[in-house]
Amino acid sequence: MQENISLKPYNTFGVDVSAIYFAEVNTSEELLEALNLSKTQKLPLLLLGGGSNLLLTKDFDGLVIQVNLKGISEEVISENVVLVTSKAGENWHEFVQFCLDRNYGGLENLSLIPGNVGTSPMQNIGAYGTEIKDTFVSCKVLNLETLEVEEFDHQKCNFGYRESIFKREGKGKYIILDVTFKLTTKDHSIKTEYGAIQSELQNLGIENPTIQDISKAVINIRQSKLPDPKVIGNAGSFFKNPTIPLMQFEVLKQKFSTIPGYPNGEFVKVPAGWLIEQCGWKGKQIGNVASHKLQALVLVNATGNASGKEIFDFSTMIIDSVKEKFGIELEREVNII
Ligand SMILES: Cc1cc2nc3c(=O)[nH]c(=O)nc-3n(C[C@H](O)[C@H](O)[C@H](O)COP(=O)(O)OP(=O)(O)OC[C@H]3O[C@@H](n4cnc5c(N)ncnc54)[C@H](O)[C@@H]3O)c2cc1C
Repeated sequence: MQENISLKPYNTFGVDVSAIYFAEVNTSEELLEALNLSKTQKLPLLLLGGGSNLLLTKDFDGLVIQVNLKGISEEVISENVVLVTSKAGENWHEFVQFCLDRNYGGLENLSLIPGNVGTSPMQNIGAYGTEIKDTFVSCKVLNLETLEVEEFDHQKCNFGYRESIFKREGKGKYIILDVTFKLTTKDHSIKTEYGAIQSELQNLGIENPTIQDISKAVINIRQSKLPDPKVIGNAGSFFKNPTIPLMQFEVLKQKFSTIPGYPNGEFVKVPAGWLIEQCGWKGKQIGNVASHKLQALVLVNATGNASGKEIFDFSTMIIDSVKEKFGIELEREVNII
């Protein structure tokens, strides 16, 4: 247990706020001990994984628990199916690589997403045509009220686009302890439909890609497109891509003929990055905060000295101008603390 520490090294935005107490827990016993302290001293609780999907807007007057539980286990179910369970504190990308080293397929398109395994169900992480809900089986959680361990299956997690029960009605009620995925051992389903993957595979001269090739292509694309938080503070996409009714999209299309949209039934998903760029935000900097020059959707701590409030206010300005120009209300993807 540490007291009055800076959380700057623990969030990928590199925002410098402090916490009264900080505990890194490596075992279930340590976790219960920390929770006991928070209960007896009535300290607000903040759970932390890799700190890559949160914006800390003020000092935290409570106990931060970094969930560092480690361990991976496997259970072969049939000739082509293995269940792999990872404890919450394993690094996501290292876990994906662990699976690829064993030729377990299903997570390769999600290579290089920052953060930990335990946080992956929170917003049903997704990239390059895949989401964790495609391979997720269940997760074990600690109910913070009863301190009982419960199992949440796929249905109970109620996954949506960058959504799950843990971001909605279950917010702040559970600690995810481990996650189980159902992966293939030989007849892999290779997903290359996402445009950039195919062209990257071509660049690499690969015609019949393996799951390892897909991972390599995804890593190359991500490294060329997304700013590295170690170099410039960010939390990836700051906003969700909005989904609007087809009718509204048709009306917008008449006014903005190049507006991109991905239809899904009666709705159309519109890339938030395009909307933000059209409002003139791409690469724009105000004070210490900027919209990234290659990815308008990614807000960055441009000078390294941005406060959480500055980043939050910058995001509000973007929301307001997109609303004014297109009548679409952007929603923040990042957890605001
Ligand atoms: C450069 C970059 C690229 C990114 N690309 C993508 C992408 O392609 N796709 C995508 O989906 N996301 C992406 N993200 C966002 C982020 O990586 C994911 O959301 C990731 O799952 C967050 O994990 P974390 O461990 O860092 O979570 P944290 O930021 O530590 O926590 C996120 C939330 O979960 C809570 N929490 C933490 N641990 C637990 C626990 N054990 N139980 C319950 N609640 C907990 C926290 O309190 C917080 O509210 C990107 C981020 C960056 C910086």
